[in-house]
Amino acid sequence: MTKKKTSYFNLFIGLVLIVSSFACSKTEEPTVPPVDNTTVPNVYTKIYGASSITSDGTYITIKTNGVPDHKSPYYPTTNPLYEAYSGTTFGGYTFNKNPNSIATQSFTFKIPVNPKVDANHAATPLGVIGVALNGVALFNQYAGPNNQALTGEIASFDKYYGHPQNTGQYHYHVEPLYITTVKSTKSGLVGFLLDGFPVYGPQEESGTTVTSSNLDAYHGHTHATIDFPTGIYHYHFTGDAPYLNGNGYYGTAGTVTR
Ligand SMILES: [Zn+2]
Ligand SMILES: [Zn+2]
Repeated sequence: MTKKKTSYFNLFIGLVLIVSSFACSKTEEPTVPPVDNTTVPNVYTKIYGASSITSDGTYITIKTNGVPDHKSPYYPTTNPLYEAYSGTTFGGYTFNKNPNSIATQSFTFKIPVNPKVDANHAATPLGVIGVALNGVALFNQYAGPNNQALTGEIASFDKYYGHPQNTGQYHYHVEPLYITTVKSTKSGLVGFLLDGFPVYGPQEESGTTVTSSNLDAYHGHTHATIDFPTGIYHYHFTGDAPYLNGNGYYGTAGTVTR
């Protein structure tokens, strides 16, 4: 190459580089942080008894073994959490142990990450209707097999107000006392029902005791809570029947497999 040709060539390469750098900067999109739908909102991490909590952006999936993290006379005597109990329980009944024992479960709860009211307000079934912060199942206000009143079962609630059914599923129908007095507070978050709406203890943050007369037919109402400062529909445990849920889910229920 002659000197002149070399310099034209260099000029040409230079122009190509300049043009291509313009082209590159034109095709580069402005930096937008990727939308991560799979982030689990902080409030669900309060479910300390879960073995895993994940989100697909539509449902929060919570896995638990369903056994209580507190003492119970329903644990096999060989379990470190076994503790005999005699005394009174919920409602002042004298404790009367049922014949069942706590067995490890394999629960997978799928609850909507954006809970929505459902005009159908589907009736809650017997069995699992929600999950407490310790991973234990929440049951409704009826006893099996034919939706009898819970009255006959209450005496078999242990000192933390839970008991196992015939396949060993430990559960709470009423305020889980270990959570409301040890792990959370009387006004704190206690768990979630399958429709994704949170469950709170029997007091408001002001200290006022909540009764069923303060709540709607589904046993909840809407206002801001410490976990949901912009307000949310929530259930409350109450000392009076129906204790946790009334005439069905407020929202569209997710699922539980066991
Ligand atoms: Zn029961
Ligand atoms: Zn409330």
